[in-house]
Amino acid sequence: MSAPEIRVFNTMQQAKVPLAPLTPGKVGIYVCGPTVYSFVHLGNARTFTSFDVIVRYLRARGFAVKYVRNYTDVDDKIIKAAAETGEEPIALAARFVREFEADATKLRLLQPDVSPKVSETIPEIIALIVKLIANGVAYQSGGDVYFEVRKFPGYLKLSKKKLDDLLEGGGERELKGEEKRNPADFALWKAARPGEPSWDSPWGKGRPGWHIECSAMSSKYLGETFDLHGGGLDLIFPHHENELAQSEGASGKTLCNCWMHGGFLDLEGAKMSKSLGNVVRLRDALEKVDAEGLRYFFLTTHYRQQLAFSDKALHDAEGRMEYFYETLKKVDERLDAKEFIAGPLHGEPQRFLNDFHAAMSDDFNFAGALSAVSGVFAELNLLMDKPPVKDKVLVGRTLVALREVVRQMSKALGLFERKPEDWLLARRDRQVKAKGLDVAKVEAAIAARNAARAAKNFPEADRLRAELKATGVEIMDTPRGTEWKVASE
Ligand SMILES: [Zn+2]
Repeated sequence: MSAPEIRVFNTMQQAKVPLAPLTPGKVGIYVCGPTVYSFVHLGNARTFTSFDVIVRYLRARGFAVKYVRNYTDVDDKIIKAAAETGEEPIALAARFVREFEADATKLRLLQPDVSPKVSETIPEIIALIVKLIANGVAYQSGGDVYFEVRKFPGYLKLSKKKLDDLLEGGGERELKGEEKRNPADFALWKAARPGEPSWDSPWGKGRPGWHIECSAMSSKYLGETFDLHGGGLDLIFPHHENELAQSEGASGKTLCNCWMHGGFLDLEGAKMSKSLGNVVRLRDALEKVDAEGLRYFFLTTHYRQQLAFSDKALHDAEGRMEYFYETLKKVDERLDAKEFIAGPLHGEPQRFLNDFHAAMSDDFNFAGALSAVSGVFAELNLLMDKPPVKDKVLVGRTLVALREVVRQMSKALGLFERKPEDWLLARRDRQVKAKGLDVAKVEAAIAARNAARAAKNFPEADRLRAELKATGVEIMDTPRGTEWKVASE
């Protein structure tokens, strides 16, 4: 079957719409990146992983994707954090860009095609603000410039909020003496204050407001209209609403054809966010579990749904990855040993790939895609444990075909990218560390057991196996000798 049409949930229409790239075969996607004032936490990591898999999948489907994800390196939070550490704000931001990149590499996130920074986009930001003033939707007030929301008729069309609800107290009366014409107007440019980074502009020294950067960067790298715009759910208002107002207020064109928003990661019932303080840093999580285990955990739920974080969920995800890698190790060993017959294809290996594409094409249904992954692994195990021929010889062509299905799924999900032995050994090392096991003692006990077996002293061999088991070590006798792993609880 040919892969189905891709449909994407568009926040603007509150419905799934067909992915219809402006240029056939090409997709431009802009994802709002991190504000670099501290280490990235798991809530953000989930959003970036979702878009990472979306980009991978689009590429796997043959689209030439241009992926832009920015760094917000000029921002109130950065200035505040820098004041606390005594660093220059730009230097602090640069430090956390490096930390983010180190973490992103560990999580095996794709490098975006462009990762622009606010501090490197100032001329484009100023040009955009000049245009907004000329178009009559922005005004200068002292050294500040504001976007005048009442002058832009489409304001709030994305978030579906009501302007009246945004006006606390509602009356113009309250605006007297304030710098803004309307309390809902938002800053495009902020006059310089002592100790803050600033640049020359037609309105004096200052710095950009938060939202204008994404309008400037997206049009610079993707054009005035592009295909997909992504971010976390919390960005719909005010950030994306304001971005839309700025971009469309300047160009008069639709900013993007589809707005995509990822759901929250919850920790103990509350959204994980730096402002709430209930965060788990990505690098701390990656001390405990493998990157693919964490990716797998993120993918267990649809990207738009809430996902509840717990150590147990993470632990379970890694256990699942262990099962997948153990299966792949067995498959690769069987294939290497050529322990099969070249019979006809058994079953329909392709059907798992069809299920996978059906799920991913339906608004990137990650959980559905993982269920197709589970299906193919169950089939692999079945084929190895109960080969469908009398003499227990494996049906090689089917095994090869299923292995290829895994390879294609792997490419789109960023899972199973390691060599199975390497992954399994790394997992064992983490478990050994966590349990405080003494590897030398384990290996000595295994050698003693093997000696007992060779001497046909089976009671002693069984005793040693039971002793190892009591310490949490499971041993497996394989054609290559005895192997061991740490048993999962
Ligand atoms: Zn943004």
